[in-house]
Amino acid sequence: MKKIGILGSTGSIGKNTLKIIENNSDKFELIYITAKTQVELLIEQAKKFKPKYVVIADEDKYSLLKSELTQLNIKVMSGYNSIIEIAGLKEVDVAVNAIVGSKGMQPSVSACKNGVDIALSNKESLVMAGDYLYSLAEKSGTEIFPVDSEHSAIWQCIQGEDSKNIKKLILTGSGGPFLNRDLKTFDKITVKNALKHPNWSMGKKITIDSATMMNKGLEIIEAHHLFKMPQSKIEVVIHPQSIIHSMVEFVDGSVKAQLGLPDMKLPIQYALSYPERYIANWESLDLVKLKKLTFFSPDTEKFPSLKLALNALKLGETYPVVLNVANEQAVYLFIENKIKFTDIPKIVEKMLNRHDPIKNADIDAILDVENEVSNFVNSIV
Ligand code: MG
Repeated sequence: MKKIGILGSTGSIGKNTLKIIENNSDKFELIYITAKTQVELLIEQAKKFKPKYVVIADEDKYSLLKSELTQLNIKVMSGYNSIIEIAGLKEVDVAVNAIVGSKGMQPSVSACKNGVDIALSNKESLVMAGDYLYSLAEKSGTEIFPVDSEHSAIWQCIQGEDSKNIKKLILTGSGGPFLNRDLKTFDKITVKNALKHPNWSMGKKITIDSATMMNKGLEIIEAHHLFKMPQSKIEVVIHPQSIIHSMVEFVDGSVKAQLGLPDMKLPIQYALSYPERYIANWESLDLVKLKKLTFFSPDTEKFPSLKLALNALKLGETYPVVLNVANEQAVYLFIENKIKFTDIPKIVEKMLNRHDPIKNADIDAILDVENEVSNFVNSIV
């Protein structure tokens, strides 16, 4: 039995992970689940799956959680520090990090310090602290398995290949809901418009990131860390059907692609079953029904976030931290109707321009940059 912990079990990835554990109950044992504030759903999940530990970040919800689970043999904890602590629990084989945004970074650090493998959905961990996480992972033996569909695709394509033979990684992206919208009307985009993704059903933060295409930018940085590829060897292609999840071109010109229906259950399951594959109960891909797959170059005038991310990766040091935190705060301001859709990349650019980078940043330096950028973004509205 593989022992699994889920950081962020009440979000979209967390819920799908529970479905996979339920469908493979002979292969997985659930050790813990955690949530930020959604206590009712967390209680429901705890009663159904009976993990050993349940953690809620919001301390105000602790007493309700504790009283609801009192009859079960479950250890109940609260507070963000307890989430960081449980992420390092050595009895777990794989910690699924499905926390949204920069709050996922410290739990990843904790897992990497303790030699716990990570199935990583929280791309922000690598964007903000990729070098630092891998320096810890090398010492502890932690392996980081991608859950992000593009990175799972690349990972599947390079199995059995020598990394020397990789010419480039080709990340595909749907282009989001505004691919064909006239740029002149971008300042009229509402939160409701931006939350309608054409193919994927995901949480709010990543759906807005897909609409600005910052998601693809963050994914370039994520791919750079996961596969040790320079930015010059990572390309983005728009593929509106989201069937090819990414590709790898090799030195002999051969291109491998991984295809599948847009459903996160497959990449989650692969991260947990690796190096094996488990039989799935979901629908098969029907290429004849799909008829055609199309591809375009990304439009960086419409989607400047992509350019900003590339620039942050080129500049390195703590620029990707700024990129990520400024974007995250701007996205929340947009969701709260405090800024326009088109202000998101403007804020990110402004924060990148005023940043004094730090070399070889450790976790404290990264957290300082995070606080400073977060406070500054929130002070300008
Ligand atoms: Mg993705």
